Amino acid sequence: MSMNEVVIIKTKEELNLDEFENGEVHRIHVHLTDNSLGVPWRIPLVVVKGEEDGPVLGINAALHGDELNGISTIFKLIEEVDPKKLKGTLVLIPISNVPGYLAKQRYFSDAVDLNRIMPGKPEGVTSNLYAHYFTSKIVSKFDYLLDLHTASHGRVNSLYIRADIESEETRSLAYLQNPQIIVKKFDEEGTLRGWANDNNIPAITIEIGNSSAFQHNLIDETLEGILNTMRHYEMIKGEVKDMVTDDAIVCDHSYWIYSKRGGIVDVLPSLADKVKKGQVIANVYDVFGQIKEEVIADKKGVVIGKNVNPNCDAGSRILHLGVNFIDPDPENIPGHDDFTEN
Ligand SMILES: [Zn+2]
Repeated sequence: MSMNEVVIIKTKEELNLDEFENGEVHRIHVHLTDNSLGVPWRIPLVVVKGEEDGPVLGINAALHGDELNGISTIFKLIEEVDPKKLKGTLVLIPISNVPGYLAKQRYFSDAVDLNRIMPGKPEGVTSNLYAHYFTSKIVSKFDYLLDLHTASHGRVNSLYIRADIESEETRSLAYLQNPQIIVKKFDEEGTLRGWANDNNIPAITIEIGNSSAFQHNLIDETLEGILNTMRHYEMIKGEVKDMVTDDAIVCDHSYWIYSKRGGIVDVLPSLADKVKKGQVIANVYDVFGQIKEEVIADKKGVVIGKNVNPNCDAGSRILHLGVNFIDPDPENIPGHDDFTEN
């Protein structure tokens, strides 16, 4: 097919996986709701239907419309997977929040965060309707879900996973990604991950770097994790990379540290750095270059994300700290000498 050839993409009212031919890649739109012109909001889907039956793995990106690294991850995955050698089905949603993507913003057209209102409602405000049809027409057809996100605007993230690692199925999903950092999350209400897990669709969130960008090193790492997941579920052949926890830092929970003063903020540690309790993590300058506040880490932790926008009001998010982690490097575990060689 030449690149200029116009291909009409069909719009469906629902995702019905049975109607797609095996061993092929299918591209469709699914009609969710209508916009103020009365024109349908149509969500783009790529269905890679394997030659043989197997699990349905759903992967969605840009549920926050400016979080774009997942789009490139999905595009690379489409190039990587041969449907003739695939067992099961991939359902790929490069852009989940279509109005947000068009406006280059996190939120839906009515300024609502879609990842706080899942599964939506069949009646109510426009974002609720969209969320309702997104979950009922599409995501409910998945056996597993990977929800691809990034840091929000003005902040940077390492590659990290949010998952409920108390549950066996989501724990293995998390470890299969071979992540730098895992933050234990007991699925917050209103998130897509939370809704999916409540409905027997094991789901994790993968946070890939920064918003409004393609970061190919992180994208390639994410792709490798997805392929590893597909090997684990025997959707493709190949050896599953060890689900060792040795390399991942697993945090009990995480939170943002805020500045008290406003001014020009310089955040000092790098992503994935470990910080000590009492360490200065940022300086807040006044406009004359004088330090007005030293922001301190109140606990020992690992840097999951940080603010990179120096122009900060008082009470700005400074650093996203993961705490109570199991450090993979025994040298860093306090009192480890007491436990060795027993
Ligand atoms: Zn997000």
